Amino acid sequence: MNLILLGPPGCGKGTQAVNLVKKYNYCQLSTGDILREAVANETQTGKIVKDVLASGKLVDDGLIIKIMEEKIIETKSKPGRIFDGFPRTLTQANELEGLLKRFQMELNLVIELVVDQHSLIERIMKRAQESEEKREDDNSVIVEKRLEVYNRETKPIIDFYSSKYNLNKIDGMQGIQEVSNTIENLIESIH
Ligand code: ADP
Repeated sequence: MNLILLGPPGCGKGTQAVNLVKKYNYCQLSTGDILREAVANETQTGKIVKDVLASGKLVDDGLIIKIMEEKIIETKSKPGRIFDGFPRTLTQANELEGLLKRFQMELNLVIELVVDQHSLIERIMKRAQESEEKREDDNSVIVEKRLEVYNRETKPIIDFYSSKYNLNKIDGMQGIQEVSNTIENLIESIH
């Protein structure tokens, strides 16, 4: 199972991915988590991306694609992969098509979590207050920037997937459990 979770920062992709990992033993491939870990461990990649992450801009497509290629190879024998935070540009979406083809994998499900812009900012700021790990990009100026980058760079891939695949839009304003149930039903309907 290869599943893409699409949607803006704060829409609940991470929460839903964690649920699917528990329920189906899929792997969560979260580019944000992978990059933050690289920064924390001060790896070569971490040093390159640190300032970009803090600014709310996007990391270079080439670097992201290289990381995801490695992750796909690493998780080849897993029952499923959840792409969370990737792809984020049309270039990445096209490259993912190529990668999956190369590894003879299919893209089984594309889900968009739809949440209104105002709630996103509230959710992210609430998460920032409650979380023990401080994210440098969770302050109001950078959150606005991340949403602007999402609208400009990532939104176009919604059309890309709508025209090529069956894009499943889910109302992300519902409770966490309702959203999980809807996603699980979609997964089970294609098994
Ligand atoms: P968000 O809550 O904004 O969705 P993420 O944890 O997914 O945050 O990503 C945090 C940051 O990591 C982004 O603002 C961006 O700088 C970088 N990043 C994550 N995924 C990608 C990607 N696919 N392409 C480019 N940059 C990325």
